[in-house]
Amino acid sequence: MDTARKLIILADAAKYDASCASSGTSQRDSSDGRGLGSTEGAGICHSYAPDGRCISLLKILLTNWCTYDCLYCVNRESSNVPRARFTITEVVDLTLDFYRRNVIEGLFLSSGIVRTPDYTMEQVIEVARRLREEHDFRGYIHLKTIPDASDELVLKAGRYADRLSVNIELPTADALQALAPEKESAAIKRSMARIKLQSDDHADGLRTRPRSLPSAAARPARPPRFAPAGQSTQMIVGADASDDRQILQTSATLYGAYRLKRVYYSAFSPIPHSSSALPLRAAPLLREHRLYQADWLMRFYGFGEDEICTEGGMLSLDIDPKLAWALANPAHFPIDLNRAPKERLLRVPGLGVQSVERILTARRTRRVQRADLDHLRVPTAKVLPFVALPDHRPRESDRVAWLTRSRHRATAPAQGDLFASPVPV
Ligand code: SF4
Repeated sequence: MDTARKLIILADAAKYDASCASSGTSQRDSSDGRGLGSTEGAGICHSYAPDGRCISLLKILLTNWCTYDCLYCVNRESSNVPRARFTITEVVDLTLDFYRRNVIEGLFLSSGIVRTPDYTMEQVIEVARRLREEHDFRGYIHLKTIPDASDELVLKAGRYADRLSVNIELPTADALQALAPEKESAAIKRSMARIKLQSDDHADGLRTRPRSLPSAAARPARPPRFAPAGQSTQMIVGADASDDRQILQTSATLYGAYRLKRVYYSAFSPIPHSSSALPLRAAPLLREHRLYQADWLMRFYGFGEDEICTEGGMLSLDIDPKLAWALANPAHFPIDLNRAPKERLLRVPGLGVQSVERILTARRTRRVQRADLDHLRVPTAKVLPFVALPDHRPRESDRVAWLTRSRHRATAPAQGDLFASPVPV
């Protein structure tokens, strides 16, 4: 099989990994010869570097052969899909070739599990090692870590990769046991713990490195780098019956215990010839979007995972989680924009972290009035029903009227029944 064919198969097989996806846009392509570029297909995806730059990554699997049989995965052993396997040299050459042509700025490499977790991990690491040591490649590398790979291999992977990730796959250990019996939740968390420990050791090494003084002996060498962009994971949403509260609780645990940089949510989409244990229909993409919003509220707005889900353990699909929380907790409003502490301002629908900072800065020198909101780049229509100002005091009816306007849609989205028949198209 030639490299181009392998690339088609193994880039397509990698597209289900959302941990560096650029999803959510409309579908466009130029395969009919008209226009230029495509938002479909696979192969190059966008990710964010530690300094905030958006970068393009070659996103591929080393192989889509796999000895595991995770029911939700198109690459599982029993799946009837075309298989391919890159050699290490092929991945190295492709990465360098695309990089030199300015098509990509880095590599995202994952793999099905062949022979053993350690063997697979060694192959993945060897790609990164050759790129870094033999070709002095300084671009971004994200390696998927195989759960159960040995400590030494995790350490080695972190020396070459900018980011490591281990997929948690499903929100609960029971769901994992049911849908991916060869995987073990404890083993996945052990891998995350190893990465965290290595990161901590590395950070300690940097902190405790003595400064060298003039005429003193040279200071010890910098400790070898370890995955400076940290670790991330991916959770499939809607493949099992877990509700949004359980999903967010799992995320909160992962952020707290393993200091993950990101949890990526991937809405389940049915795969060909799948098991009857899986839902017949895809989870709403809007559910994935609401989970990202809720995740943001937990990480940057001080919300607890237990207070975000307002509708029987699920997030509302037709309004964002912050607004849903505000409407479910009217006693917290209105909030005095000139007196409330930062934590309370962050709870006002429409106020982002930067708007709150601008308000805090402004009120050091004057009392913020209604007319100031535009200058502070605050979305006035959304914020006014929830805040009190010297020249503005909202009524409960303002909030209801605002909600009615924002909910005005032809058909309100609804959470699907996991095992209902697919909607005819
Ligand atoms: S181990 Fe990974 S590639 Fe293999 S079947 Fe499971 S999810 Fe798919």
